[in-house]
Amino acid sequence: MSSHVTPPAGNGCEGNAAPYVLGALSDQELVAFRAHLESCSVCREEVAALQVVANALPAAAPQLNAPSELKQRLMSSVEAELPARAGRDRSSARRRLGLPALSLRPALGLAVAAVAVAVVVIALVSGGGGGASTRVIQAQVTAPHASASLRVSGGHAELNIAGMPQTEPNRVYEVWVKRAGAPQPTDALFTVTAKGDATVGVPGSVAGVKEILVTSEPEGGSSAPTRTPVIVANVS
Ligand SMILES: [Zn+2]
Repeated sequence: MSSHVTPPAGNGCEGNAAPYVLGALSDQELVAFRAHLESCSVCREEVAALQVVANALPAAAPQLNAPSELKQRLMSSVEAELPARAGRDRSSARRRLGLPALSLRPALGLAVAAVAVAVVVIALVSGGGGGASTRVIQAQVTAPHASASLRVSGGHAELNIAGMPQTEPNRVYEVWVKRAGAPQPTDALFTVTAKGDATVGVPGSVAGVKEILVTSEPEGGSSAPTRTPVIVANVS
């Protein structure tokens, strides 16, 4: 209990967590702060909290179609950190350490602000594509024991198919996009694996699309369906 007393200057408990996570400490400071971390749970928690943010930010920045898991992870880490740390900082940490509790909080505040910025950027970027969230739609499949789901994210869709029968010789599966009127052909022609699996991106945007269909067609595809659909996914 008395091992960690009010720190004198230079013991490492003074806002070194953020530069440590960002790799901004000098070699000497790094050695000192690592040693300090061994004995200081407050700094360890600070580093852990900042590490979550540091790990998430580079992944978030270039991500155009932000997966919803990432956002949930960011938000839940923010939500998980805030009340817990507020309580700790006010009570035990400040009682034990005095000043450091105050000096740690601006660093955490910056980290939380960075997460908030990242989340807003993600929402703006993916919002432009027609919805920030990922929807998974179960499709109707005529073949027994087969299944297909349509994953819609950022205005685009992907078909995940399992257990489909093999195409007959010289035939392929063709993906169709139905808005108002007749189904329009796509250049998404595919066959399934020996297990009957396939993952197929639906070309173009799903904006205004009502249904996504799959039919069996002669090799090279057709310009209008020649058979009844084997997969129907209702998008709207
Ligand atoms: Zn410390």
